[in-house]
Amino acid sequence: MSQSPEQQIVEHVLDAIADQKLRAGTKLGEQSLSEIFSCNRTQVRRALATLTGYHVVEHLPNRGAYVATPSEADARHVFEARRAIEMTICKNVVQFANPADHARLRANLAQEHEANAAGNRALAIRLSRQFHLILAEVGRNPVLSQYLEELTMRTSLVLGLYGSDQRSLCAVDEHAGILDAIERRDEAAVCREIEAHLRHIEAAVDFAGAPKPRGALSSLLGPIVIPT
Ligand SMILES: [Zn+2]
Repeated sequence: MSQSPEQQIVEHVLDAIADQKLRAGTKLGEQSLSEIFSCNRTQVRRALATLTGYHVVEHLPNRGAYVATPSEADARHVFEARRAIEMTICKNVVQFANPADHARLRANLAQEHEANAAGNRALAIRLSRQFHLILAEVGRNPVLSQYLEELTMRTSLVLGLYGSDQRSLCAVDEHAGILDAIERRDEAAVCREIEAHLRHIEAAVDFAGAPKPRGALSSLLGPIVIPT
């Protein structure tokens, strides 16, 4: 069955936020969205309500829906929650990961290296987020996976808002260090590596940076091509 317009809007907006194309503070006009996705306003409103539930869209009284603009405190809470959740995920990964899981993580890491080497920033962002989501899957706790999915989305918003273009990416070498420790089943080392990694991402955020929405909504929500 093909996707409903609501689902299409939700997925396109989430993808564009994850790719740091759709920046915090961008207006999500009902009229524009209904034109872009050829649907009615009721469907747009339902999609926006779903996105509000993910904390990536906010409604301003009498002004409509906008991509949420996290404050510095919001951002720090997101990073703190990620440290707590990803430490537990990593402990589960050490316990449950099998050779196929290791291979899956290695394959993602190799793709991250390639995307960086090719200067494909959008793909590199997507793959680095995916590394964390695969860890969550391998940890085999779907509730933690679900929370991490939302938290990585909110991290993308923070990085799109406050991160500089060079720094708002996970360091691939740090992902490699995490994976090495997982393969050695060294829980203490995995916890140290993931915590240091998340602190490095947070440290690269410059909260003095101003919000910078850019571009027309139609250009930001265009089809997103994932190389195979
Ligand atoms: Zn990372």
